[in-house]
Amino acid sequence: MSIIAVLDLGGSSLKFGYGTTTAGLIWDSKIELTQISRKDIYAVIEDAVTQICNHSGETLTAIVLGSPGQVNSETGQIISGSPNLPDWKGANPGHYLREIFSVPVQVENDANLMAFGEAGRWNYEKTVLGITLGSGIGGGFVEGGKIFRGSGFSALEIGHTIVHPGGRSCLCGKKGCLEAYSSAASLLRQVEEAGVNEVGFLSLQTLLEKCDSNPIIKKIVEESVELLALAIANVAIILDPDIIVIGGGMSDIPAFNYDLLCSNIARFREDNTSREWDLRPAYYGNKAALRGGIYLSAKKKV
Ligand SMILES: [Zn+2]
Repeated sequence: MSIIAVLDLGGSSLKFGYGTTTAGLIWDSKIELTQISRKDIYAVIEDAVTQICNHSGETLTAIVLGSPGQVNSETGQIISGSPNLPDWKGANPGHYLREIFSVPVQVENDANLMAFGEAGRWNYEKTVLGITLGSGIGGGFVEGGKIFRGSGFSALEIGHTIVHPGGRSCLCGKKGCLEAYSSAASLLRQVEEAGVNEVGFLSLQTLLEKCDSNPIIKKIVEESVELLALAIANVAIILDPDIIVIGGGMSDIPAFNYDLLCSNIARFREDNTSREWDLRPAYYGNKAALRGGIYLSAKKKV
């Protein structure tokens, strides 16, 4: 059997696994990122591919890596990495992995891969807008089996659209980006800034669980959801997708209020739109990007 290694780099962890074009995703695992220098990330992705080879005992034929930020999918270079991984900018994991494992390597924006994985569920017959909610906020759009990347590989960077002119500082250097309000990292930061520093607020899960009992947290979360919904609705009005898929690590947390997000998105829908938006949680959950990697490898170039 020949396998495809798939890796999905996030701001705080690396998900990875392997599969085949016929069997789909066969096995997957995860490594938490404790250090985020470029050298550390290279070491982690190399370790992941080695684990895949050892675990499967099969012949590796290709590697697909999803990464946050602007990714040159033709060369495998990270043009501008995620603000959560500042040292990743300029890295070329495509070149790095090709040198070590001597197989074809494709590097793609992580949200593009997620949208591509979800679009595969409909055999690429529907247009899919994918939104990933995690340390950062990403977007991907797939139409006719093709990823829409824009002229400089930065299309659908919804996290850095401005929702509050002159507002909160974003790690990208701008002010008022969606990510400065609605990402997991920003939610934790806003709660800290509001002085809600009870022992136990160590994770996003704890924060979301306390949402109903703590009015300060509730206000911050509700505002973040409203701005997120506004940004998603604006993109949906522009692109008119068949399906809008919400995924990423934050949407996987049981306390994440998916219904509140959907009802807010629906508020911003055009009045004269004849059909309602088809909003769904990611069918493949937080493994959608890994699935997307396998599908992408099968299609070779999209
Ligand atoms: Zn930004």
